[in-house]
Amino acid sequence: MEQVKRAKKLSGLGTRAVWAGESGNRWQRATQVPVALSVSFGYEDLDEWLEVAQGKAPGHIYSRNTNPTVAVFEEKVRDMESAEAATSFSSGMAAVSNTLFALLSPGDRVVSIKDTYGGTNKIFREFLPRFGIEVSLCETNDADSIEKAIGQGCKVLYLESPTNPTIKIVDLGRLARAAHRHKALVIVDNTFATPINQQPLRLGADLVIHSATKFLGGHADALGGVVCGRADLVAKIYHFREINGASLDPMSAYLLLRGMKTLHLRIARQNESATEIARFLESHPNVVKVFYPGLKSHENYKVARRQMTGFGGVLSFVIKGGFDSVKTFLPRLRVAHLAANLGAVETIAGPPATTSHVELTEAERAAAGIPEALIRYSVGIEDAEDLIADLSQALDQVHARRSRVRS
Ligand SMILES: *Cc1c(COP(=O)(O)O)cnc(C)c1O
Repeated sequence: MEQVKRAKKLSGLGTRAVWAGESGNRWQRATQVPVALSVSFGYEDLDEWLEVAQGKAPGHIYSRNTNPTVAVFEEKVRDMESAEAATSFSSGMAAVSNTLFALLSPGDRVVSIKDTYGGTNKIFREFLPRFGIEVSLCETNDADSIEKAIGQGCKVLYLESPTNPTIKIVDLGRLARAAHRHKALVIVDNTFATPINQQPLRLGADLVIHSATKFLGGHADALGGVVCGRADLVAKIYHFREINGASLDPMSAYLLLRGMKTLHLRIARQNESATEIARFLESHPNVVKVFYPGLKSHENYKVARRQMTGFGGVLSFVIKGGFDSVKTFLPRLRVAHLAANLGAVETIAGPPATTSHVELTEAERAAAGIPEALIRYSVGIEDAEDLIADLSQALDQVHARRSRVRS
């Protein structure tokens, strides 16, 4: 009880990252949340069992529905996003797909942007249309055309910002207002920003989605997803998920919870290092273009300044010489790990063809305006000067190699 009171008075996001959801009854007074690796929960009193089963009393029945460890994870995210309610999933894609399928029916229309995460894009192009749901995907940077599409009928406006892999920034406040004028629901994938850098519910969103696999967990050791926001909507999505069965595993929930306790520290470091690295890359002669919302040269710099409190740990850049130089540049990086993930303590690099847009064909990637020599670079928590030295030596070698080939 005392802990509950104490946690309520504290309101900084760092304090909430550590303490939110953590207070309450503890098994044997353990400091850390126990991992409840139990599928079921038993009751001797049939009346109590019935009340819990009907949701009239707190408690757990079966872990596909709810689980004590998973509930703590949901509560931490709910608190940090200042949401009414939250529910979790086995992965970020489970969160995205369950949310869309729970809220949409045949005949409904979704408006979204072309630059959503590759898997989300597949849901829009391949799966929703099969169920008679119309999808309108607009140019990400064209707010006027998004507003126009909303005006043509819209049940759900689905946004993502910053986007993947060209790190565009969508004006969430403006588009949420437009959607609400047409009684549409607004969903924002906040994976890249995290609640530390951006709070979509404050900007007008009804629901926020995270792939917890990325920054929330932060250690590339657990898959998970979460949706939070308006309680009536979350209840609907929870009901779909408990039947559909894409539930978060308690062990993963524990790992995500442990990761979240350092979220504010990691994000502060990643914001700082990514800004330094983006400036270094922008000044390098072998770099054609850098995409990072913290750079004044970024197309959406002003919107980013307005709606974000930090610019995030992910940037991308185009190097000279096309995909051939990507193939020589990437293996020369010594610190960055070459993989499809992002948002971890390790710096991770890769081209969109094997990372964010692996689900798309080459033609679809070209149509999405993704340059062939683009590299996505997710900044970890290593020393920024080591990362810059690493990038510098790899960029110089690519250049040396290219000069030799030419001569
Ligand atoms: C990774 C990612 C997802 C999907 O999450 P998984 O946990 O891999 O299923 C959704 N949205 C964004 C922005 C992502 O980066």
